[in-house]
Amino acid sequence: MERSLFGTNGVRGIANFDLTPELALNLGKTIATMRSGKIAVGMDARISSPMLKHAVIAGIMSSGSTAIDVGITPTPALQYYVKVGDANAGVIVTASHNPKEYNGIKFISSDGREFSREEDGEAERILLSKKFLRAEWNEVGGVYADEANRIYIEGVVSKVDSDLISERKFRVVADCGNGASVFTTPEILKELDCITYTINSVPDGRFPARQSEPVEENVWELKEVVKSVKADIGVAHDGDADRATFVDERGNFVSEDVMLALMAKYYVEMNNGGKVVVPVSTSKCVEDVVVDAGGEIVYTEVGSPVIAKVMKEIGAVFGGEGNGGLIFPEHLIARDGGMSLAKLLEIMADERKPLSEIVKDIPRYHILKAKIKCHNRKKLLEGLREEFEDANFTDGARIDFEDGWLLIRPSGTEPIARIFAEARDERRAKELLEFGIEKARKILGR
Ligand code: MG
Repeated sequence: MERSLFGTNGVRGIANFDLTPELALNLGKTIATMRSGKIAVGMDARISSPMLKHAVIAGIMSSGSTAIDVGITPTPALQYYVKVGDANAGVIVTASHNPKEYNGIKFISSDGREFSREEDGEAERILLSKKFLRAEWNEVGGVYADEANRIYIEGVVSKVDSDLISERKFRVVADCGNGASVFTTPEILKELDCITYTINSVPDGRFPARQSEPVEENVWELKEVVKSVKADIGVAHDGDADRATFVDERGNFVSEDVMLALMAKYYVEMNNGGKVVVPVSTSKCVEDVVVDAGGEIVYTEVGSPVIAKVMKEIGAVFGGEGNGGLIFPEHLIARDGGMSLAKLLEIMADERKPLSEIVKDIPRYHILKAKIKCHNRKKLLEGLREEFEDANFTDGARIDFEDGWLLIRPSGTEPIARIFAEARDERRAKELLEFGIEKARKILGR
């Protein structure tokens, strides 16, 4: 299998083992070779982040570019800073929701988007060739500190009806998961006149309170606190706060798919139509509400950089992933946890109903997932093309049935194939999943 240093989210690995300061230094030189000028560098709250950040900055300076050190900041805040400020590019040191021993380095282009797969490919070629720009001793770049969080907070607040939200004096519990959002989310809530309760809101790279991924099983504490303080909602972020998940006023977790559908519907209604971009692995509930509201759904490959790229190309009104990563193009074509929170408050202020009531009408499906061994990606894809001529082959094969759908998708990075099945009732979803597993095994075995 082809191995590449850059995965779906830049370079990621165990800090000081896979992702060493030597590699970070060369990644700093790589970005400065590709986009010389001013390069903003931010980081999450992980223990290894300052070490890696300083190595990246040294690489940038060695290549003759100027580094702007913005310190601990959510990924979308760094992206927004690059978009609206005068940096030519950005680097974020983060492993997002991964366990504490991990870290990562991701490149951001001047419009604030994550590097596309093609741009990452070019970066990897430069990195491996070691053909970096190197400045003479008297032309080595400088470094200065700047503040990205404040610009981001103001950017987010300016994109929502803050007067409407302020009137409601919402009670909100924010679980920042000891990540980078400790510097932004409580401030956004303050600007919107919310009564804010924070938990796990001290930056701590040991992630002492909960695992970083804001999935339902990790936000039990948030659910409890929402109930005990009688909050209107609870919000939880991952370590770099490009994702947000929510708990309603009853302390119930709102599934990420339902939240994606709710936002997509709101944007289509607000724009009197428009295109919504989601990966092929997305629940049908999103398509249902988008089509119902007069919009159009566009399916892409899995991975946020490709969603962002397609959104920009077709001028989509909204997009996102069913994992709490929502994209608001009027702010930033990137997943954005702060915007997700602010927009949800706007919807609640607008509808004047509790969150549990607002999401009640979104259709519910059962989605089941499985993995099987797959050592021959090409064989599986060719077999699927023969078996299911009418399927959507954007990424693997998505086969639509009258009462559900099935996605069989060989991984690009691991020797496995992922199988997703979704239907209105659980029994049918199980049936489709088993059918998919059997089909994939049969193709691989013949
Ligand atoms: Mg993240």
